[in-house]
Amino acid sequence: MKKLTQQDWEHRSKQLSFPNQAFINGQWQAAQAGAVFNCISPIDGRILSEVASCTQTDVDLAVAAARNAFNQQLWSGLPPTKRKKILLKLAKLISQNQEELALLETLDMGKPINDSLTIDIPAAAQCIQWHAEAIDKVYGEIAPTAADTIGLVTREPVGVVGAIVPWNFPLLMACWKIAPALAAGNSVILKPSEKSPLTALKLAELVHQAGIPAGVFNVLPGLGEDAGKAIALHPDIDTLVFTGSTRTGKQLLMYSGQSNMKRVWIEAGGKSPNIVFADAPDLNAAAKAAAQAICFNQGEVCTAGSRLLVESSIQNEFVKLVQLELASWQPSHPLNPETQIGAVIDQTQLQTILNYIQLGKEEGAQLITGGNQCLQDSGGLFVEPTIFDNVTNQMRIAQEEIFGPVLSCISFNSIEEAINIANDSQYGLAAAIWTKDISKAHRVAKALRAGSVWINQYDGGDMTAPFGGYKQSGNGRDKSLHAFDKYTEIKATWIQL
Ligand code: NAD
Repeated sequence: MKKLTQQDWEHRSKQLSFPNQAFINGQWQAAQAGAVFNCISPIDGRILSEVASCTQTDVDLAVAAARNAFNQQLWSGLPPTKRKKILLKLAKLISQNQEELALLETLDMGKPINDSLTIDIPAAAQCIQWHAEAIDKVYGEIAPTAADTIGLVTREPVGVVGAIVPWNFPLLMACWKIAPALAAGNSVILKPSEKSPLTALKLAELVHQAGIPAGVFNVLPGLGEDAGKAIALHPDIDTLVFTGSTRTGKQLLMYSGQSNMKRVWIEAGGKSPNIVFADAPDLNAAAKAAAQAICFNQGEVCTAGSRLLVESSIQNEFVKLVQLELASWQPSHPLNPETQIGAVIDQTQLQTILNYIQLGKEEGAQLITGGNQCLQDSGGLFVEPTIFDNVTNQMRIAQEEIFGPVLSCISFNSIEEAINIANDSQYGLAAAIWTKDISKAHRVAKALRAGSVWINQYDGGDMTAPFGGYKQSGNGRDKSLHAFDKYTEIKATWIQL
């Protein structure tokens, strides 16, 4: 396949049509109240589309359609092999439309086109495929009961699932939710972020083409405090799955208590420690990974390695190596296939990042590279990768999620100190350890309160292993067979012989 140039992508973007209506009960529709919100590209500030801004009335319609489809078993009642076939078709359609989806993703949220094309979209297709394959491979259980009874343990779909997702990996985060939800036989109402609704809407078109019955999958674009809140408070939604900030996650738990005690599963923020011991097997490789861990996706990653913990004996040497690596991570036009850092999502996020950089200086951390907005002439929102050295873990730049390419370097003197600093956080999403001492690696990995721990690598993972957080990084797990825990109820059926 010919590699497209920036000019090719720009040409295609002029011909692109942007989906902009809600998808409810198999129909495209404007929001009932007629409201819209602007979908703005952070690449140049251009309004891409006016998108339906759904509210309570739209949510009510979607929930009624989803409930009806579920009660009639339009989807859950299909033989597993049939559901599998349809979802595999959906995965194929995502792959066949990968260039259009990648372009929508990049225009909408500013990430480099090469990442959209080679990471986000293929991973979304693979996620659907993996869960589809699981449909006819997961068995129920028979309990070890007395001889005169049989105890069957079966999993059933929970019913209607509300899925609220963020803007940093819009299609992929949506697929992490909808793949197991649909594979388990549920009806789904997906609310993409108002900052990046386009690929979720395109996905609705593909779901329709794949043959998923009307009402089973609905997409409601809208604001968090309107559509999102209405979904979270709805009395006829059985389960709410969420990826987003810890702040919103806490609100959703409250809404559940105020409504029908729907199950709530949260994937939230992080402030992940990347711990480099002096006996790391390859300091250059560790520095390369540390740069990538904070720069990939503009630092807008829940697992960003935003706290770099370095053993004091190699502190100066190692931070210099990371600084050198950062030179190859300079922002440029997201439609250029060579670009590694694109635009940050919007003006608010840009200002948040710049405010944290200012705060770091005021807190007494040493700014050693970056620290500025850049490429202003483009009309886009770009920020230089930034390193602060001499950070202490009490500083706000070490405790709070910045969600931008801003690295806080903290030194430590012993294994115990490294563990204490790493765990001294409200978050517990991920962590990495660099050492050639396997015993030390094991000991530290066990002591870290984090859902994913990487040893001598950063950010490994595929569909086979669960992903999620300890502490205020969330509950439950996405990916792998563990994901089905969110989307199924477990039933015990007793038979007297
Ligand atoms: P956010 O919490 O602002 O928004 C996430 C979603 O929640 C959006 O769709 C938004 O419209 C909706 N929302 C906002 N307020 C709401 C309300 N009151 N009721 C219902 N819905 C509401 O988060 P964001 O800024 O879109 O995403 C960034 C955050 O996501 C970061 O904290 C990041 O760490 C986290 N994240 C976590 C993971 C993970 O797997 N743990 C993955 C990606 C992103």
